[in-house]
Amino acid sequence: MDDSYLNKWDAEVKSVSNNKFIVLDRTAFFPKGGGVEWDTGIITTEEGKVYNVVYTGKFSGEISHEVDNEGLKVGDIVKCNLNWSRRYLLMRYHTATHVLSGVFFNEYNFKVTGNQLTMDKGRIDLNMGEMDVDLIKTAIGKSNQIILKELPVEIYYLSRDQAEKDTSLFKLAVGFTHDIDNIRIVDIKGFDRQADGGCHVRNLNEIGAIKFIDAVNKGKNFKRVYFSL
Ligand SMILES: [Zn+2]
Repeated sequence: MDDSYLNKWDAEVKSVSNNKFIVLDRTAFFPKGGGVEWDTGIITTEEGKVYNVVYTGKFSGEISHEVDNEGLKVGDIVKCNLNWSRRYLLMRYHTATHVLSGVFFNEYNFKVTGNQLTMDKGRIDLNMGEMDVDLIKTAIGKSNQIILKELPVEIYYLSRDQAEKDTSLFKLAVGFTHDIDNIRIVDIKGFDRQADGGCHVRNLNEIGAIKFIDAVNKGKNFKRVYFSL
């Protein structure tokens, strides 16, 4: 939540369910949510036994790590390592989605109503009435111009009262939990602010360039855009 670049740390096993669902006392594994895929990685015991984390999800408010082997026990002290190439690519995709949603909203008043980010490609859904592929391509070009400004991306918290004064914070609510009083803000300085629970790069210059792949008409006010980096 506070450091998207933390990719190795020590932890203690707090619970084990069905021999393979592990809860840790502290974790940086991102659980699947807000249209963003989960983190994978490894958990290594003090004896040197390695467990692959194949899936991370959030269940009943707890982050659960599915491992590929039995053997972890409550109280085990472990070292955790994220699959960083996967996570970092997802961070780049996620921040790119914020740039796209900022451009579509600021310039065209279209909202991003959903998104799905994988290692292969990104997908956003727009509440665009009539399909306009040229407009979409132009918006992606404008997004790449924003990226070239190399704006910093900051993460901080606002109280619910402060946050609710700025309704634009909630136009893309990826991973946002509504029952919390401290609202986490992802701020692309001078361009776009969102209430958001996801992992982001520190500067737009880490994204690379956004490339249009395809646009699909899914219905009235529902256009789906695929892109890669
Ligand atoms: Zn986000």
